[in-house]
This record gives sequence, C-alpha cells and structure tokens, in this order.
Amino acid sequence: MERNTFSDFKFNRQILNAIEDAGYSAPTPIQRKAIPPILSGQDVMGIAQTGTGKTAAFVLPILMKLNYAQGNDARALILSPTRELAMQIEENIRLFAKYTDLRTVVLYGGLGPKTQITALEQGVDIIVATPGRFLDLYLAGHIATKSLKVLVMDEADKMMDMGFIGKLHRILEVVPRKRQNLLFSATMSELVHKIAGDFLAFPTIVEVTEQATPAQTVRQTLYYVPNLKTKINLLQHLLKDDETLHRLIVFCKTRAVADNVFSFVERRYGAENVRVIHANKGQNTRINSINAFKEGDIRILVATDVAARGLDVSNVSHVINFNVPIVIEDYVHRIGRTGRAFQTGDAITFCNPAEEYYIRKIEKLIRQQIPVADIPEGVEIAETGFEERQAIAREIDAQKRKDNPEFKGAFHEKKVANQKKNGRSPQKTKRNTAYAGKPKSIRKKR
Ligand code: AMP
Repeated sequence: MERNTFSDFKFNRQILNAIEDAGYSAPTPIQRKAIPPILSGQDVMGIAQTGTGKTAAFVLPILMKLNYAQGNDARALILSPTRELAMQIEENIRLFAKYTDLRTVVLYGGLGPKTQITALEQGVDIIVATPGRFLDLYLAGHIATKSLKVLVMDEADKMMDMGFIGKLHRILEVVPRKRQNLLFSATMSELVHKIAGDFLAFPTIVEVTEQATPAQTVRQTLYYVPNLKTKINLLQHLLKDDETLHRLIVFCKTRAVADNVFSFVERRYGAENVRVIHANKGQNTRINSINAFKEGDIRILVATDVAARGLDVSNVSHVINFNVPIVIEDYVHRIGRTGRAFQTGDAITFCNPAEEYYIRKIEKLIRQQIPVADIPEGVEIAETGFEERQAIAREIDAQKRKDNPEFKGAFHEKKVANQKKNGRSPQKTKRNTAYAGKPKSIRKKR
C-alpha cells in the first residue's frame, strides 16, 4: 500500500500533532518504506544517507511503540557514532515526543558523566548514546538493560570507520536477546555487512537511493588546484559572493588545516562570521559553535570530518571540501550536509595533485563523474613551495606503490626532466588537464 500521508501509518494523535507542528507534510521515501516494517516489529536494515529523513523513519515508530513513560529502565537504545549525531537524534525525539511523557537521555563522552547519571536515575524510556559512554556507564552500574526492546545502530558505516566494532559486540552481549533491531547506514561496506549479520535477524531491507549516491539535490563541482596557497585564494574568491554562499561548511582533512583556514577566514571576515570545530576543541565550545551556526549567527563553519559527523543544519547553501576526503565515504557524508530534505545545495571540492587519486575512487563509489570547473579569472595561482611540492610528490609515489608494489618511486628526476622540456606556464594550461597526474608544482624549476 502506498502511504502518502503520515496518518496512513496509524500513528496516534500525539505523534501526528507533533509531526504537523514540525511542518512535515508528507513522509519521505525512507519513511514510507521503513516505518511499516518497524511498526510491525521486524528487524530492518535501512540504507539511507543523511538528508533523507532517516532519523524520523526510526524515531516515529519507536515513539509509537513505547507510547508512554513506563518504569525506570530504558526500553529503546539508539547508538550513534558521534556526540553531534546523538544530540541531533535526541532533538528529533524531543520534537516528536512533545505531546507524550516519554523520557529521553543522551549519553556521550567529553563531558563529566554526573548529569547523565542523574538523568538515568530519574527514569528513562529512550537512551541515545555513543558506544563508549554507554559501555562506561553500563559497566559502572548506572544502566539496566533488561527492559530493552528496541536497539538501533545509526550510521553503522561510520561506526565501523571509527573502530567501534569491538564496543558494539560488547553491547550486544549485555542486551536482552529478544529485541527488535534496526540498522541504518549510508553505505554498505564489508564491515557493515558483518555487523548487520551479527546484529539483525532476517531483516527487511529498505533502500532509498542507490548505494552511496549523493542526493540529487546537490550540485557538485570540482576544481583542480595546485597547492594550499591557491586553495586559499580560491576560497577567498568564492567567499566574496556572500549572497549565494550565505551559509557554508568548509571541510578540512586535519585540525592543523582547519585551524589554518579558520585563521585566514577570521582575519578576512572577522571573528563574528566564522567558527572552527575539531576534536581538540572542548565539547562546550563545539556545541556553542554548532548552535551559533544553526541559528544563522555565523556564516562559515570550518570543520574536520569527525567533528562534523551528524551535524544537522538545514539551509546550508554550500559545502566546500577544502581537502578531498581520504576516507572516500566521507565525501557522501560531507556533501549530504547541503541539499537536505527538499532543498538544493552546492558541494565544491578543491583537489590538489596528490588528492586526485581519491577523486578517482570517489567517482567510482558514487558512480558519477564530478563536473570540473575552471579556476575563475582573478584567482591568483600561486607557485607551489618546495616543501609542499615534495610532500605532494611523496604522496603520489606512495599511492602508486599502494596500487603497484613493484613501483620503484623514481618520480623525481624523470618527471622534472620531462616537464622542464615541455616548459608550459601552468597559468596558461587548460585547467581540466592542467596536471592530470603531473603536478604543476613539479614542473616548476627547483
Ligand atoms: P535526516 O536524514 O534524518 O538527517 O533528516 C534530514 C532533514 O530532513 C532534517 O532536517 C529533518 O528535519 C527533515 N525531514 C525529515 N523528514 C521530513 C519530512 N517528512 N518532511 C520534511 N522534512 C523532513
């Protein structure tokens, strides 16, 4: 049966009213597919990215099943890879449970556990938790698991990437055998398969897009940029258009790069316009930054992948990948921050010669070619400094060795010799082919 409205699911009045307050007029495809089997008690594996409405797809039927507050011990446990995602799930629960008396506690690390323990002691129906903090509090005797009826693993692929498999297995050992299991994942890697096999019993599989395909609503663009300085120049150029790029996240590969980009943007646009989040920032600073960004107080959020995981900010106009993600699945996650639920967005990627390797892998994963754009007029193309040139060349060597263990790595002499011979100025070359496999940087005189 096609379910085109939320009332087709036979949700109770409290939930339907909350859905209406949230302004959701119709269920999204993942909600249409996942809600009925979840309501009927089946194990479900949902393949869906962020932005598809997957959170409400499991939250709504869980609320319907739990119905009202009961006893002291949680009846549903939702596991999330990061604090940010856990907080976002909890927010969703609060939104939809507002006309019920259901109690939710969210547990994550980085803060002292005292408040969380107090909340648990007051009685709880739903726990949302990161695996580490859940186990710590369980082992310390603060959580009773015997009443658990539903267990959810959200973003299972990220949990695997983050090395949570051991912790998840420990958790599976301490929860009742008889329970309903739900697993959501944006991609279906081998490890996700494995944990799904250990976790789910004869699951109903629902999938909303092809595996790892970015949302249709995201326009992707790729710039080939020779070096860090030029990336900064390009970023600066793009940021000039503050009407179009009104709310953006800039993703960086490391804290160091994130800090660098942040200082640049801060100098240029003032501290009131930008924040940076990464694992070295205190939990409260991160939460404040995310909230400030959500509320539209700041225009630019600079982030690393781990810090930005699960960030639910609507109306992000642009995602800029200052670095190409090397965990290639992160590409899909990153660009999922824009073009969320019915809005369109732009994902712009800056790729230096050492990062092309990952672009090729990403394109294979998403089964699409990312459209390439020329670096706009007026963006100064800087020379690649000696150290960066070396680092890039070394990385390319390592990539070649990874693909072909026989490769000897004589990148230098040969390429420099060849490129000196053809002696074209990098500025004049056509961008798309500017350095296909041959970093411009290497062409320059040493
Ligand atoms: P998610 O994929 O769960 O992270 O959800 C992405 C965004 O879509 C969130 O901002 C939700 O509030 C929003 N959303 C989820 N379901 C619906 C719906 N049925 N109608 C409109 N917006 C929705």
